[in-house]
Amino acid sequence: MWRDASGSLEERCPGATFATMAGMSEETTPPETNPDFGISYANLASDFHARVGPTPVSDPHLLRLNADLASDLGFSREYLSGPEGVSMLAGNLPLGTADPIATAYAGHQFGNFVQSLGDGRAIQIGETVDGNGTRRDIQLKGAGPTPFSRGGDGRAAVGPVLREYVLSEAMFALGIPTTRALAMVTTGDRVIRERAEPGAILTRVATGFVRVGTFQYFHARGMTDHVRALADYVIERRFPDVSGAPNAYRALLDNVIECQAELIARWLLVGFIHGVMNTDNMSIMGETIDYGPCAFLDEYDVGKVFSSIDHAGRYAYGQQPEIGHWNLTRFAETLLPLLAEEEEIAVESAQEALGAYSARFHQSYHHGLSQKIGLVEASDAAQAIASSLLESMARNRADFTLTFRGLSELRLGDPAGDTNVRALFDEPAAFDAWARDWRDHLGREGRDDSTRNHAMRGTNPAFIPRNHRVQQAIDALANDQDPRPLEALSTVTSRPFEDHPELSEYAAAPETHEVVQQTFCGT
Ligand code: AMP
Ligand code: MG
Repeated sequence: MWRDASGSLEERCPGATFATMAGMSEETTPPETNPDFGISYANLASDFHARVGPTPVSDPHLLRLNADLASDLGFSREYLSGPEGVSMLAGNLPLGTADPIATAYAGHQFGNFVQSLGDGRAIQIGETVDGNGTRRDIQLKGAGPTPFSRGGDGRAAVGPVLREYVLSEAMFALGIPTTRALAMVTTGDRVIRERAEPGAILTRVATGFVRVGTFQYFHARGMTDHVRALADYVIERRFPDVSGAPNAYRALLDNVIECQAELIARWLLVGFIHGVMNTDNMSIMGETIDYGPCAFLDEYDVGKVFSSIDHAGRYAYGQQPEIGHWNLTRFAETLLPLLAEEEEIAVESAQEALGAYSARFHQSYHHGLSQKIGLVEASDAAQAIASSLLESMARNRADFTLTFRGLSELRLGDPAGDTNVRALFDEPAAFDAWARDWRDHLGREGRDDSTRNHAMRGTNPAFIPRNHRVQQAIDALANDQDPRPLEALSTVTSRPFEDHPELSEYAAAPETHEVVQQTFCGT
């Protein structure tokens, strides 16, 4: 686990997509429009992308539509669920007059640099403007081959598409910056993986699909002008405030580092494991992207790995902060020629920027942990008590989500009410010892039970997309055309801080026979 400085902070990344939770509407200015859905990224030089459209599919059917997101993007639900809309979501009809593209990128995969990756199974079909006036890219994942497919079929199977849909929307509902899922369709065609599986296409939406690997692609080829053009594009699109800074590229680096530190802290605070944090899977926009063999923790375990391809645990739960820093260092390297004319000065500047990462991560992480245990002040004492809880949870194989949600119900003067939480620990007495200390702290802060419980329930979700439930939803849909488990799972994970008593089984940890040991990318 990454350890370093401490502190407390509740700043937000400038312009980030943090605050807008599912279902909450904010006061908005009338949206700018982009009626032809033209793609701004296509205005960059031709090396940035290939002009390629989706390959038509035989018999598209809508599996799921995200009606809230559709309306935020200015689409009517009727249109998207009608024959024309479904054809568009399947890649059989264009979106407006936009000319679709696949983008070029490189990336470090498990530490090894690969010069040419790029969108091998994702095609951007358009760009639109959401209700907040933010430009958003619309991409079909599984839309057929592109010049970047390198032998792959460019398609996706229904399982991984469903996983990305559910997990990305769950992350959004948890308040974590992420790409969004607008829709999923089946294609009527089969894709060959371990066996033949129904093909599907995910429509995903992002503040931009620029990755660390996109910068690396041009840096590795010595194309500094292209790196500059890309940096300018990202600044205009995502960090417009930095254009006035004395060194805009350093300010860009600072912002990307800050957002990534905040993002990874938030992952840890809900028990999320990305699973493949290759540099091509890290967005420059500060959003969680490329949901592959990702998963949420059941039992708390910093060394936990689900991904079937992560043999060495490079992307284990507790490794993520450190890997984030490693990836950002690769990003900083691509910016060196822009940071200063003299290399030594550029390197110093990059190091200074990267040096801020750890403190920023720890501020967010410790602040979040303090909130999770109901303490107002993220003091050193709060940090110590949170760490001691986590250590005890790890030793006692306590369920991460249930423990914090359980704590959110406890009362200061009523240790007899701790029954359910202490039962989550192999040795319940270990919890009692910790809870005495915790109650002392709470007593000193003096918040009343109901205020604290309310705040804690708003930060500790009751529901996460548990791996066994995701698997059940996939199996039911793919094998039996039964959408009910998916619907139930979506209901609870789209409002994860509410109790949903009628679906309380979705909050439970898996029974021994239900535990999912591994997750797969399914590419
Ligand atoms: P990912 O594991 O999704 O990050 O993908 C890594 C690289 O492999 C990217 O360049 C993808 O576009 C490419 N890729 C993954 N799956 C496929 C597929 N089914 N067909 C073609 N390319 C793929
Ligand atoms: Mg990827």
